[in-house]
Amino acid sequence: KTSACQLIFYKYGDPTKVVEKETLILPAKPQPHEVIVEMLASPVNPGDINTIQGVYGVKPSLPSTPGNEGVGKVSQVGSAVMNLKVGDWVLPKNNGWGTWRSHVVSSSDDLIRIANDIPVASAATMAANPCTAYRLLHDFVNVKPGDSIIQNGANSSVGQAVIQVARYFGLKTINIVRDRPDIKSLKDQLYELGADHVVTEEELKSFDVEKNGLKLPLLGFDCVAGKSGANMLRKMDHNPTLITYGGMSKQPLVVPVSALIFQNANFHGFWMSRWNRANDDSKERRDTMECLVDMVRKGSLVPPVHEIVHIDMYKDAIKKTMSSGNTTCPKQILVF
Ligand code: NDP
Repeated sequence: KTSACQLIFYKYGDPTKVVEKETLILPAKPQPHEVIVEMLASPVNPGDINTIQGVYGVKPSLPSTPGNEGVGKVSQVGSAVMNLKVGDWVLPKNNGWGTWRSHVVSSSDDLIRIANDIPVASAATMAANPCTAYRLLHDFVNVKPGDSIIQNGANSSVGQAVIQVARYFGLKTINIVRDRPDIKSLKDQLYELGADHVVTEEELKSFDVEKNGLKLPLLGFDCVAGKSGANMLRKMDHNPTLITYGGMSKQPLVVPVSALIFQNANFHGFWMSRWNRANDDSKERRDTMECLVDMVRKGSLVPPVHEIVHIDMYKDAIKKTMSSGNTTCPKQILVF
C-alpha cells in the first residue's frame, strides 16, 4: 500500500508527458459534510486520455487529477454525514471527480454507495461502461427478447458489457471487431461472454443476418464512427436507430444518403455523463446500478479483460491505453 499520493496535470497535452505524481497531504479529519475515501481501484479509460489532451466533452479547470471512474472505501466520515458510513464502497456521481489518487476528501453528496460484496474490478469499472451498455439497450428502441442488436468495437469494454447485458435481457447480438492475427481467440473470448455472432469488419460484408437465424436489428451501437457505422446500417432493418457513443477511428461518421432517405435511419449520440447529471439520484439510476450489481453477483456480468497496475507504473498504463489503436490492450486498472 502506497503513502497518500495523486496523479495531476497542470496543462493539457500528451498524457504520457503532462501527468505527474505528487504526494497528497490529508486533513486529520474531514469537515462535517465530508468523507475521506481510500481509493481501491481506478481504470484508465479512453475518455480520461481525451480529458488530459483537452479534447473531451468537459474541460476541468487546472491543475486537475484525472480519472472519471473508480471505486473507493470510506475511511472517515464527517460529523454531519448521514448517507455514508465507514467501510462503505463508493463511486463518484459525476465525472471530473479525480479517481487517480490514493485518497479523496469529498462532499458526501458527490458519491453513490455501491455494494461491497462484488469484486473490486467489477465495482471500479461499473459506472462508465456497463451503465452505458444498459442505457443504450433501454433508452432508444423498445427491444424485446428474441430481437437482435448489432455493434462495432465489440471487444471494447463497453462492447463486452453490451454483449452481457443484452444476453441477460434475452437479446441476440451481432458483434463486429477488427481483424488481427489471433482473431479466433478474440472471437472465442466474446462467445464466452455470450455473443451470438462475432464477425470482422470484412466478414460482415457477406454476413447474412436472416440466414443466421436472426431478425434484422433495429438498434445498433457505434463505438468507432468513420465508415464502420454505415457498414452496420446495411445489415439493419428499415427505420433503424444507430447510436454513436464513441469515435475510436477518430473519423467523422459517414452516413450514406440512401440510409437516410430509403432506409429512414435515425441517428443519435449518447453520453453517460450527460445522463448521469440529468439523473443525479433518480430511481432509474439506482435501478440501473442495482440490476448490474445483481448481474455481477449471478456471474452474468464480468469486468472487462484487465490488468492491475500499481500507481507508480501509471505511465505504462497510459501508454498501453493510448496504443490500443494498434494492439489490443487489456483495460488498465490503477491500484494504490
Ligand atoms: P477500450 O479501451 O476498452 O476499447 C477500445 C476499443 O476501440 C477496442 O475495441 C479497440 O479495438 C477499438 N479501437 C481502437 N482504435 C480503433 C480504431 N482506430 N478503429 C476502430 N476501432 C478501434 O475502450 P472503452 O470501452 O472504455 O471505450 C470505447 C469507446 O467508448 C471510447 O471512445 C470511449 O470514449 C467511449 N465511451 C463512451 C461513453 C459514452 O457515454 N458515450 C461511455 C464509455 C465509453 P481493437 O482491439 O481492434 O484495437
